[in-house]
Amino acid sequence: MKRNDLPDPARRRLLAGSAGMVGVGLLGAAPVVAAHNVAHWDAETDVLVVGTGAAGAAAAIFARQADAAVLMIEKADYFGGTTAKSQGGYWIPNNHLMRARGLTDERAAALRYMARLSYPELYNAADTQLGLAPDDYALIATFYDHAARVVQRLETLGALGSTFFPGGAGYEYMPDYYAALAQNEAPLGRILSPRRPDGAPGMGDEIARQFEVAVKARGIEVRFRQRAVRLVQDANGAVVGVEVADADQKTHHLRARRGVVFGTGGFIHNADLRRRFLRGPVYGGCTVPAAQGDFIPLAQAAGAQLGNMQHAWWAELVFEQAVVNSAVPMNVFVPPGDAMLQVDRTGRRYVNEKFVYNERAQLHFVWDPQRAEYRNLLTFMVYDRRVAEQFAGMFPLPPGPAPYVIEGADFQTLGAAIGARLAQLAPHTGGFALDDDFAGQLVHTVSRFNGFATSGKDADFQRGETPVEGYFHNMYRPPDQTNPSPNPTMHPLADQGPYYAIILCAGVLDTKGGPRIDTHARVLDAFGAPIPGLYGAGNCIASPAAQAYWSAGGTIGPALTFGALAGEHAAARR
Ligand SMILES: Cc1cc2nc3c(=O)[nH]c(=O)nc-3n(C[C@H](O)[C@H](O)[C@H](O)COP(=O)(O)OP(=O)(O)OC[C@H]3O[C@@H](n4cnc5c(N)ncnc54)[C@H](O)[C@@H]3O)c2cc1C
Repeated sequence: MKRNDLPDPARRRLLAGSAGMVGVGLLGAAPVVAAHNVAHWDAETDVLVVGTGAAGAAAAIFARQADAAVLMIEKADYFGGTTAKSQGGYWIPNNHLMRARGLTDERAAALRYMARLSYPELYNAADTQLGLAPDDYALIATFYDHAARVVQRLETLGALGSTFFPGGAGYEYMPDYYAALAQNEAPLGRILSPRRPDGAPGMGDEIARQFEVAVKARGIEVRFRQRAVRLVQDANGAVVGVEVADADQKTHHLRARRGVVFGTGGFIHNADLRRRFLRGPVYGGCTVPAAQGDFIPLAQAAGAQLGNMQHAWWAELVFEQAVVNSAVPMNVFVPPGDAMLQVDRTGRRYVNEKFVYNERAQLHFVWDPQRAEYRNLLTFMVYDRRVAEQFAGMFPLPPGPAPYVIEGADFQTLGAAIGARLAQLAPHTGGFALDDDFAGQLVHTVSRFNGFATSGKDADFQRGETPVEGYFHNMYRPPDQTNPSPNPTMHPLADQGPYYAIILCAGVLDTKGGPRIDTHARVLDAFGAPIPGLYGAGNCIASPAAQAYWSAGGTIGPALTFGALAGEHAAARR
């Protein structure tokens, strides 16, 4: 079929959405399949769900509860995607467990918090929509209005039990990332975890386990190793099915009478999309390898409007892992250790090392105008032997020798060793190098840091002063580790070496840009109209959170909510 054979609305959408089009991996094939060209449907269902992470599973369960026949397909050979690898927190404002404990989370206040973080440059508390564009405000409001209902319904259905995310070490609840922000009037209790059968909080694998059980219990078939490669559209431009490729690259056509919901994750492991769209140099993430942005060209071919492509759920990575494979085993969520600091290429501290990973990672995008380079393309986590020993095994501090750890007997030799390592890595960095006086400056930096550690007050970056920093530090600290300093997140570095360094770069938990959706999770075309029959939720769409990471669970909370909304709406379509 040639492009001109497309049904008219589909062709219009394709043309409208062609800016920034990326290869679909189907050279020579038309970007969408016209339904009249499908000779045989290999399966038929009401709602077809693509992807088995939080978004896809929620969509499938809610569609089935609304009496739709549901079929799920999954590119990998297991259920759960990155959700299954995650810590498993979901951020749900005004959730039923908070309410049961008398914790209030008023709508207006919660929307102020979300709007302030998602659109800081537009935020206006005096405006009825807080200064936001109407559709962006509507998505945030929809999240507040439905998140608690969705999670409570999952509980009632026996599909996903919830409990509070673990507190611990003096914390009853994990605090929100911006617990101290003036707009945060309910900083505790919004972060939930899956409740294991023994009642304890579980992680992402527990979400996936419970969802897989719930899906099976509802008779929903899951076809593994099936990759959605093209959409099927009818003569009116409605999405009526999907072409999938199986493990042998054979294609099949699956018909969806009411709608197709994508929950296929982000695009971090698609080097092309990463380079073209993300707002700075990013090397990978701990996302599962399947996160290749498959939905983006498919949706573009149907005329979808893209949004939020520059943003991601950011986190730092060990550069020497990411350079080998963008799918790193783990991100540097919190650099462990007290006698530990992060410095830039000049040997100066540039960040509060214990603050939220999403925020720290964005400092890698700072531009140096005179040198015409990313000033913090790479930065350096520096620590002493006490930290190496006491925090061993807390990633990225290895339990034993690791090739990415650079060692020096003193700061001079450490600086020289980092310089030599950077020279080896030059083909991946554009020749990024240390300042000539890196080691000399590092001596001053450590001396200043040691003074702050002794007094307990970090006059430069206020390390350890917000609630979440203490929580994070404890999370990445062996229970028997002690620090007599007045600020437990800081300790003077030893006067004598050896000292160690790990090279860090920007990465992600996953991206969060893609087709824009409306409040029913319908994918919008270039003119803002819903593309009939096409839905998306989770990291494969333009996140309702925009640039913000509201708190731990800020990715899975919206994925569950908009996944459920997609499933409900698709099931009701006739
Ligand atoms: C270590 C770690 C800890 C994290 N902790 C948290 C946390 O505590 N809280 C939080 O909110 N977030 C956390 N995250 C992020 C979170 O895991 C993700 O943002 C979230 O799970 C994404 O859900 P999703 O449903 O959008 O996608 P996924 O869970 O990634 O699911 C997408 C699925 O789609 C499949 N797929 C992709 N393409 C196709 C295709 N073409 N055809 C068929 N199937 C396809 C994939 O194989 C995958 O199974 C963490 C991430 C990591 C890596």
